[in-house]
Amino acid sequence: MLKTTDIACIRPILGRILKTISGALLVMLGISSFAIPAHAARSTFRTYDADQGLASVGGACMIQDHAGYILVCSEHGVFAYNGRRFVNLGPDQGLREGGTVYGLAITSNGRIAVTYSDEILISDRVSDASHAPSLLRFHKALHPGVSFSNNKPHHLVPWQGGFVLLAGDATLRIIVPDSGSPHVETMSYDPGEQVLLAGALSVFSVQGALWEALDDGRLCRADPGDVKCYGVAQGLQGGNWLDVVAGSGDSIAARSLTSVATLNPGSQQWNVVVLPDQGDRYLIYASYLGLFRTPDGRLVTQTNHGLAVLEASGWRAITVEDGAPPGTIVGAMTDATGQFWLQIYGGGLVRWLGYGHWQTLDKTEGVSDGMSWMLANLPNGSAWLATDTGIDEIVRIGSRLQIGRVIPGPSFAVAAGPEGKLWTSAASAGVEVIDTVDNSVTRLNTPPVDTIVSDPHGVVWIGTEAGLFRVDTHQGMPLRATQVGSLHTAVPALMRDGSGGVFYLSGNRLRHLHHDMSDIAVGGVWPSDAFELITLVMGGDKTLWVGGPGGLFRLVVANDQVLSFHPIATADIQSNSVFTVMVDHRGWVWTGTTLGVSVFNGQHWVSVDADGGLLSNDVSQGGIREDPDGSMWIVTSHGLSHLLNPDQMFTDRPITALISGAYLGTLPVRGDMLPYSNAALSLQFGTPNYGAERSILFRYRLSGVDADWAESSSGIVRYPSVPPGRHLLTVVSYDKLTHRSSTPTELTVDIAYPWWRRWWSEALWVLGGVAFVYGAMRLRFWAILVRQAELQRHVAEATAQLRYQAAHDSLTGLLNRSEVERRLAAKLSGGAVGGEMIVALIDIDHFKQVNDKYGHLGGDDVLRSIGRLVSGTMRDGEHAGRYGGEEILLVLQDADGAGAKRVLNLHRAFRENTFSAAGTVIRLTCSIGLSWVVPGDDWESLVGRADTALYEAKEAGRDRVVESRSVDPGKPAVAVQRPGPAL
Ligand code: GH3
Ligand code: MG
Ligand code: MG
Repeated sequence: MLKTTDIACIRPILGRILKTISGALLVMLGISSFAIPAHAARSTFRTYDADQGLASVGGACMIQDHAGYILVCSEHGVFAYNGRRFVNLGPDQGLREGGTVYGLAITSNGRIAVTYSDEILISDRVSDASHAPSLLRFHKALHPGVSFSNNKPHHLVPWQGGFVLLAGDATLRIIVPDSGSPHVETMSYDPGEQVLLAGALSVFSVQGALWEALDDGRLCRADPGDVKCYGVAQGLQGGNWLDVVAGSGDSIAARSLTSVATLNPGSQQWNVVVLPDQGDRYLIYASYLGLFRTPDGRLVTQTNHGLAVLEASGWRAITVEDGAPPGTIVGAMTDATGQFWLQIYGGGLVRWLGYGHWQTLDKTEGVSDGMSWMLANLPNGSAWLATDTGIDEIVRIGSRLQIGRVIPGPSFAVAAGPEGKLWTSAASAGVEVIDTVDNSVTRLNTPPVDTIVSDPHGVVWIGTEAGLFRVDTHQGMPLRATQVGSLHTAVPALMRDGSGGVFYLSGNRLRHLHHDMSDIAVGGVWPSDAFELITLVMGGDKTLWVGGPGGLFRLVVANDQVLSFHPIATADIQSNSVFTVMVDHRGWVWTGTTLGVSVFNGQHWVSVDADGGLLSNDVSQGGIREDPDGSMWIVTSHGLSHLLNPDQMFTDRPITALISGAYLGTLPVRGDMLPYSNAALSLQFGTPNYGAERSILFRYRLSGVDADWAESSSGIVRYPSVPPGRHLLTVVSYDKLTHRSSTPTELTVDIAYPWWRRWWSEALWVLGGVAFVYGAMRLRFWAILVRQAELQRHVAEATAQLRYQAAHDSLTGLLNRSEVERRLAAKLSGGAVGGEMIVALIDIDHFKQVNDKYGHLGGDDVLRSIGRLVSGTMRDGEHAGRYGGEEILLVLQDADGAGAKRVLNLHRAFRENTFSAAGTVIRLTCSIGLSWVVPGDDWESLVGRADTALYEAKEAGRDRVVESRSVDPGKPAVAVQRPGPAL
């Protein structure tokens, strides 16, 4: 696992006591007590196991697919890694639930084969950036009855777009067509070739050619029609060949248990090199032994305790002591971005951080305990690392690092001084000048030291907790540290001005001590009074870089004035806690922060941290040094990191974004249409840029949902719900260390509209809406019609009522006078002839007395009763109307004299009827005048004669009927009295 720490590496200020400086004190000490530890450089690794989802770590094969996923076999199926987490492939992909996977192979076209002990399955398609391995379907590749033996280490290899495997004595070929199912054929060897290849133990595919290892130790190129076998006569010794790969150039390389053989192109003779670090440990893992390539193209293979790399000078063993990861290495692979992976049996995957680029040295390899601070490179090639408990000599033997001698005692600042001496801060205060050749030490008194800078003219400048000191080594012994400058405050950093003076930091400001010892506070503009200064470097003409916990600034300084300052963005240097800044011979600016190292090449910044191979992220104050060979030394809290080739910091590493999981609810999103669902959309993003797993974040957007890009560093994204329709998911990987973005990876998320939102249902809705509106309108229209009919009825009723009311008398219910006159007139004008119609005018006798006796309301009661009485005697075509107050005009049929007779009966009924007047039963009589129609009559003449007859009846004593005798309308009517009793 990574060694990291969060300790910020600024030198602790331990309440040092300022000592009086009393000139130089020469101390000569023997340092024969230098300790010599034995350990060498350890590499840093990251282990991938259950923490990342690799639940089973018992596998011994891995491949990288064309999308960049790393597929690992295990005792529980296949796991696919996307740069964030492992996903187990199983029944959803057509594979078994669990089961030991013995082999993984991939064709040049990207089709993947998975081998169980008794079964081979091949993917139906190729994974890509938006189609993860989890979307593949695997199908059985062997016909029933075709058996193969899986006890061979290399039983299935890619060849010509398909695969080749050994089954018994036969070599079988699995043809994988672009579409359709794979099928199996026997390889078409001729009989002679079959004889040659009998006894094949394993088959290999090397740069398109087949090779087979035979049980007699021979190796045969095994392309049908071109079989050629090599044996002892061609130099091949060393037992059975376990793996065959491409070597450097166009060479072929093979590995046995104890050696590696190489065959150069054009040559018939093999070179055999015996492996270092042999042992019996691998006897039980012999079937896992393979030959691989390092990221820098060298052959590498497993040894008894680690790895062996074939270098120009021969094998270099990398045992656990030399920095190999502990555990039995059963596989190795360099991925497409140059990351070096190892498979540890039972230990998961291990990624070798910064393989070939970084060396590291930490306490497990002997770095002295406590914090590591600064490094000094002496002209003799040695390097010295100051730590809390000792100064460690860093020795480079070939390409290896190890600790040499150790000068015990704490040190913070170290520097290479004149005459190749090592100048170092002493434990609490003072400086020790160490001759690492004769181990002599000269001690100078100063306050506690923060920094030591030597110039080429024999002057050493010392920044202390109490001001700036200068030592002129040309003045001869004894050395003397002289305080210079006007301030006695701490000097955390200083740099030569190129003119015999120094710029230095003190009192939290930049000062300039000139060659003539004049001390100037540099004026002009300044970033902030709160800006705490820790580190300083000159970056070129007029350019100064200053840094501290407030960030990094580039200053333009001229004539002791800061003309301008420019802050470096945190996005560029990752952290604004800056502990060191330096400029290398290229002019590149290197700065160390709490989050690693950032480098500026004059155009852009890139950063590197523990993921990229740095021992840890916390760079120490003054902790970046350039080696004379151009490599870089970086001190972090617990040791030393050595960047072998700084140029690779700026080599372009294209990055990729993977959509490694997309599920609508539980349905995988493959780009085709999904049924409507309001379930959550779960997304997983990944990146096959495994060297930048932690610095890469994902920017993504779902069209129709997101208005803007969103960001995720975990790569796990969830949309609670997504509206139906066609959305485009776009994902971009962004590396915040290098500021590079990937090209976008896209996936269509097409969610069907629910039935009630499809076009036809939409249309139905529209039609329904129209129908509804139409219906509503119709309904309204109908209602209007009904209402209108009702109104008409009401109007008719009202009209009828009005008409009735206009024609009738409200009290008696009889016609009113005008109506009865109109009807009488109508009858007369209709040609009523004499003898057929009579009119009778009735007047109640002494009605005033009724009113007087029973009140007017009592009189009304009686009039109503009279109305009913009269109405009850009327027949069709006859009319009765109230002609005056208590006078009633009757117009009656009188065929055969029946009309007159009915008037007499009515008269009698009046007498015999009882009437109710205000609750009292009363009797009444009436007088009636009759008149018959005569030719030429109008209503007035007719009624006039009846009125006359009525008058006569009254005159005659009342209670009688008198008929008019006059038929001459011009003459007064003659009353014919008929005595009532006679009726
Ligand atoms: P007679 O006809 O026998 O000469 O005597 P009379 O008392 O009936 O006199 P007349 O016919 O001249 O008077 C009619 C009276 O009828 C006058 C009036 O008070 C009464 N009368 C007329 N119209 C109404 C009515 O609508 N309601 C009531 N209660 N009385 C009415
Ligand atoms: Mg009257
Ligand atoms: Mg009367």
